[in-house]
Amino acid sequence: MTKTKKLINAPEDIIPQLISGMVAAHPDMLTREGGTGRAIVAVDGPRDGKVGIVVGGGSGHEPAFAGYVGRGLADAAAVGNIFASPSPEQILDAARAADGGAGVVFLYGNYTGDVMNFTMAAEELEASGTQVRQVQVADDVASAPKERRSERRGIAGDFFVFKIAGAAADLGEPLARVEALAQKANDATLSMGVALGACSLPQTGKPNFEIGDDEMEIGMGLHGEPGVRREKLAPADTVTDELMDTILSEMAPAKGDRVAVLVNGLGSTSLVELYIIFDRLKHILDEKGIEIHHSWVGEYATSLEMAGASITLMKLDDELTRLLDHPCRTPALTVGAIEGAAASSARSARRTAQAGDTPAKAKVAANLKREGIITPEIFRAMMQRAGDEIIAERDWLSELDGVIGDGDHGVTMEIGWKAVQGALANAEEDETIEGSCKRMAKAFLDAVGASSGPLYATAFLRAGAAVSDRLNLDPEALSAWLAAALQGVRDRGRAEPGDKTMIDAWVPAVERAQQAAANGTELDVINAARDGAEAGMKATADLESRRGRSAKLGARSKGHIDPGAASTWVTLRAMAAALAEARAPK
Ligand code: ADP
Ligand code: MG
Repeated sequence: MTKTKKLINAPEDIIPQLISGMVAAHPDMLTREGGTGRAIVAVDGPRDGKVGIVVGGGSGHEPAFAGYVGRGLADAAAVGNIFASPSPEQILDAARAADGGAGVVFLYGNYTGDVMNFTMAAEELEASGTQVRQVQVADDVASAPKERRSERRGIAGDFFVFKIAGAAADLGEPLARVEALAQKANDATLSMGVALGACSLPQTGKPNFEIGDDEMEIGMGLHGEPGVRREKLAPADTVTDELMDTILSEMAPAKGDRVAVLVNGLGSTSLVELYIIFDRLKHILDEKGIEIHHSWVGEYATSLEMAGASITLMKLDDELTRLLDHPCRTPALTVGAIEGAAASSARSARRTAQAGDTPAKAKVAANLKREGIITPEIFRAMMQRAGDEIIAERDWLSELDGVIGDGDHGVTMEIGWKAVQGALANAEEDETIEGSCKRMAKAFLDAVGASSGPLYATAFLRAGAAVSDRLNLDPEALSAWLAAALQGVRDRGRAEPGDKTMIDAWVPAVERAQQAAANGTELDVINAARDGAEAGMKATADLESRRGRSAKLGARSKGHIDPGAASTWVTLRAMAAALAEARAPK
């Protein structure tokens, strides 16, 4: 497989340089605020009493999402890593910068990772007294049937939902109305895409899925999630007919109805092709007597250099039309003219404080239980080793995710575990295991979006809390640590055993660990967990995915092991190896 050529510098500089370049290119519209460096904010927002609009998601979809930040549209965008949700901390930076005192609305595509990260951020904001509403854009008709509309993923329909909500907020509508109008726009918007070629993550350079030279995939998602059908490449008119048929049969517009149209390029499809698609689309709508109120043709929500296009229609009524026509000015979209050139005078005096918090130092209390061979130092060595082995297995984990997900799992885990390793290296000598777990949770969450960030962070926090009365871990405590980690993942992700997720590796791992803890050593417990995870991981190949990105695959996910289950096994395997080494006579 050949590597895709990319004009990048060091891989770790991609996102910082993307953000810095975007802000530098549009200094009249964009600025950056907050300690994470991941919040792109409108120079003339927020305004006192205006509902703040916060958008966001993974990078790689440019101009989405930060390209929609500016007057009349979003107040701030949280920028994640490539194809990975921003972390709660990054979202909080964006939210605080967008908060004009009237509450904030989070708008983002309906992906597991984004839902978990934005929800964690919303919980924290609500706790500090800011009202938050969320609308998950779910416009992709190919990703779930109409009866399960709320499960659909968000693709280029973000464009219309952001626009409508941004206008409503700009016009001074209160929080509940902005939310309701965003939801109304979401309900009125349907999209479907076609992919002709893969894209590759800049970190690996490898295509995130394979597709034959003469093939196309109808209904493919923005991260290469499989669509409804793969077949021989057909002429533009045939493809347009199919996309439009699917959209129109669900939307069912009547003669005389008005729609807004977006023909969106996914990254490497020429405008020539997009206009050819538009030409056919116009013909179809004309035949049905449906009026196009306004149309956009170009790149509005991309997928790195993926080849292909999507069609989005929003069915309009007078209210949506008025909001669509409301002026806005952002790098990616300008409508009408903003009155009063010196708009910045409207900006609120509020400024976000720079985040500079460090995890609280956990002190060793004299009454902690000391039985057990796993000292805090050995525990940290076990975690360092987990990081080493996850990093060593990076490409394998990404390959597994490329088959049934979006191909980023290895990269995401590497980012998270490197952060964990760095954080643990800074731990005080006398830090407790609970203290280290808190530090790991914060590091993982701040570094990683995706689904894994909130899932692992919650796991670490719960696991640490389960052994908060201990200095060292004995077999029972180690087994309790593992069980609490599993419960954390279950509470945060709400997956059930059999859904084909990391849970399916964790459940047998914890079961066997608990059995071993009854009369075994610490090493017996972790070895049992490792073997349980391996068996569970292997068994995921027979399961049909029901959670996360690959859920959209259904039966097509069968025959492949789940990447999250695989990384669970790698983690437990590494912990076992590190413990064995620590116990080996020197
Ligand atoms: P993303 O799905 O955001 O790209 P990753 O690729 O890092 O994130 O992780 C994918 C893995 O996350 C899946 O293989 C699965 O094991 C796990 N996962 C996804 N959703 C859930 C969930 N709700 N509960 C538990 N694990 C999940
Ligand atoms: Mg993934």
